[in-house]
Amino acid sequence: MHELSLAQGLIDQLVQLAAENNASRVVMVRVRIGPLAGVVVDSFRFGFDAIKDMFSVTREAVLELDCPPAGYRCLSCGRVDDYCRSVDVPCPGCGEKGKPFPVGDDDLILLQVELEEEDDESISCSA
Ligand SMILES: [Zn+2]
Repeated sequence: MHELSLAQGLIDQLVQLAAENNASRVVMVRVRIGPLAGVVVDSFRFGFDAIKDMFSVTREAVLELDCPPAGYRCLSCGRVDDYCRSVDVPCPGCGEKGKPFPVGDDDLILLQVELEEEDDESISCSA
């Protein structure tokens, strides 16, 4: 499954980041998924939650997803709408019919990671 390997890649990245920063755990991670990335968001979240349990540093990480919608560009006049018009509905811009073309990016970007620093005095808290 595509989403599972993406989630695995993200977790790997987080584990490495935590190690590089001597952090004891990842508190929060914010990821942007482009509208054309072809990622099923629910599956990605499910995969993330399943895999994060395998590492103590990511076990409590909260995943926040930023998923901007795609735009749809008219192939005749270039007008972009935020909904997909069906083939037989004329474009409000030029009146031409035809399937608009989805536009947007396909990036999966790590926007923000919140880490908790190692704290020698609170070791007894984790059982
Ligand atoms: Zn048009």
